[in-house]
Formats: sequence, structure tokens, C-alpha cells
Amino acid sequence: MTAFSPTTCPRLIVKVGSSLLVTPSGDVRRDWLATLAADIAARTKAGQQIAVVSSGAIALGARRLKLPKGGRASLEDAQAAAATGQIALSQIWAELLGAEGLTAAQMLVTLDDLEDRRRYLNASATLGRLLSLGVVPVINENDSVATEEIRFGDNDRLAARIAQAAAAQGVILLSDVAGLFEANPLTHPDACLIERVERIDARIEAMASGDSASGMGSGGMASKIAAARIATGAGVTLAIASGHVDHPLAAFDTSGRGTVFIAERSATARKAWLAGGLTAKGEISVDAGAIAALKSGKSLLAAGATIVTGTFMRGDLVAITAPDGRVVARGLSEYDAADAASLCGKRSEDHAAILGHEPRGALVHRNHMALL
Ligand code: GLU
Repeated sequence: MTAFSPTTCPRLIVKVGSSLLVTPSGDVRRDWLATLAADIAARTKAGQQIAVVSSGAIALGARRLKLPKGGRASLEDAQAAAATGQIALSQIWAELLGAEGLTAAQMLVTLDDLEDRRRYLNASATLGRLLSLGVVPVINENDSVATEEIRFGDNDRLAARIAQAAAAQGVILLSDVAGLFEANPLTHPDACLIERVERIDARIEAMASGDSASGMGSGGMASKIAAARIATGAGVTLAIASGHVDHPLAAFDTSGRGTVFIAERSATARKAWLAGGLTAKGEISVDAGAIAALKSGKSLLAAGATIVTGTFMRGDLVAITAPDGRVVARGLSEYDAADAASLCGKRSEDHAAILGHEPRGALVHRNHMALL
């Protein structure tokens, strides 16, 4: 057993499903949410950084607009419902977190924001800054503009992508089920809860499949497994736990009841993702001091860079090379090639004057870099 706990890791993403936030008649489960906000506050005070991925916009908006089928009869309905519900949803979170002395910040993202590497860096930097300021980002998909083709469609996968972007170590999906069961607990009351999944194989997929006689019979579990695949592949541990209890984070911590999907070795997973089938668009040569800094887990600062070659844009993959030409790391460049070249060897305090605008913190941030 690993000592890792998704609820005590330094950075955690908590996802709350629509059915936990909103009752079937469309009312907000405010009392329950207040207990979750209290859990978040307790952990934040203990030093954990938490971002929330909150569903519920469509469900809330549909009720206000009196739309049929929970607002999901058409894409236009869902978008109108999301736009109406999101403003209420943010208000609820701001109020409940505010009552705990916390500041909430809203981020609405589309699939493109997290898939396109340049925008990914922007979203990642914003998340990082908010978390380091002690703010609780409350994130949802930007449903009112995302068309069907570019939607995540479910916040389980969104939460996994956000974890990757925020360099979080854990995700907890609070759900109306307690986790992944060997067989559908509705038809097999004695079915065992799977507590720990080391590898998502065909057996695990079958348990989540709607077609399986032994499955949960809900698309809900299939999207959670898809999220677990994204998360664990990116070095993030993901847990599914029940949100049908007050203080759900504390309850999960005490009881441990839920399913935990263990992250693949983070270094390998991150490296694989950074490689991502892409070839490096350029090279940044660095000095021996920079290599030592990278090895101790630091970002690549311009002061340690010597030569920039190739044509690349912000967000492109670059190789970081030693004086002898050996590739020591790969990562996403925070600058295009021309700006990176102009900053080479320059101290951070001179960057703003050279660029003519606010500089980024590094040439390649450690969160977006894999040492080879
Ligand atoms: N983004 C949707 C909403 O806020 C929820 C997506 C989901 O059900 O996971 O209503």
C-alpha cells in the first residue's frame, strides 16, 4: 500500500456532480454544500490547495427557465440553461466558501483551452497563481459557448484534465455512488466495492460498462473510468467517493470507503504526455548551473540559457540541451523562439524592459518539463 492519500496531497481537485448539488426538483442542496465548503476550509487552513470542479449549471438553469428534460432536450437549451445556471452556481460557491473565510474564483474552460498547448499553459498559470494565493478556483465547462464537437460533456474528464493543468497530485470525484463495484449494487446488494485499482484493464472497464450484466449500468461510471485513465496516465491519483454524506472529504478520510485509482509513476507519465507524439520544435542550450537547478526540481530560468535554436511558439515542445549537445529535458516553452532568444543569459529583473511587457516566471516551468 502506498501512503499517498488523495485527500491529503498538496494539491487536490474536488469534483462535485450535478446530482449532489441539485435535487431532482431543482433545489440547491445548500446544507450539504456548506459541509463540503467547511471541509475545504479545514484543509485549506492545513495547507492543502484545493480547486473545485462543479457541475450543476445546466440543472439549475433548466429549473429557472422551466426547460424540459433538465435542459438537455437540445444543445441550444443546454447552452441557455448553462448560461443561466452558471451565474447562480458561482454565487452559491462564493457565498458558501466566503462564509468559511475563503475567496472563490470562477474559471470556465473548454476542451480547446486544455488541449491546445498554448492555451493550456495560460489555464495552468492562472490555476497555479490562484492556488498559490489561497483562492479556491471553482471550475466548470464553458457550456454556453462550447459546441457538441468541442465539449467535454462530463465534468469527470474535465476534473482529470484540470488536475493535470494544475499539477495536482489527486482528484476526488464526489458522486452519488460510493465507488466502483464488482457488480451492480442495485441488483447485487452483496457486490464488493473495489477499493484500489492499480491498472485499468478490461476487467475494470467491464465493471463500468453499461452493457455489462455485472456493470453499474450507468454512463456515469464509464466517464469516471475515462477520467481515471486520463488522471493516472498523467501521474495523478483519482478517487471516487460518496457525496451522500455530510462533510464528504472528512468522511472519505476517516472511512477510506471509495475506489482509488493509483497514479502511474508520475515522472514516466508526465514524460510520456510531454512527448505526446510531438517532436520538439526547437532547442534551448543551457549551462551547467542550469542543469544542476533542473535536476533539483527547479524551472529553467533565462539566466541559465545560452543559445536558442529552431522556430517555436509559446506552448510548443522544446528540447533542453547540455553544453555537449545531450538532451537533458523536454518541456513546453513559455515564450516563442524570438522572445526566448532575446532573454537568453539575462537576469529576471531585466526581462520586462527587454520584452516591453510583463515577463513569465521561467523559460520552461518545472510543471511542464520532464527530465530525461
Ligand atoms: N457542465 C455541466 C453543468 O454544469 C455538467 C456536466 C456533467 O454532468 O458532468 O451542468
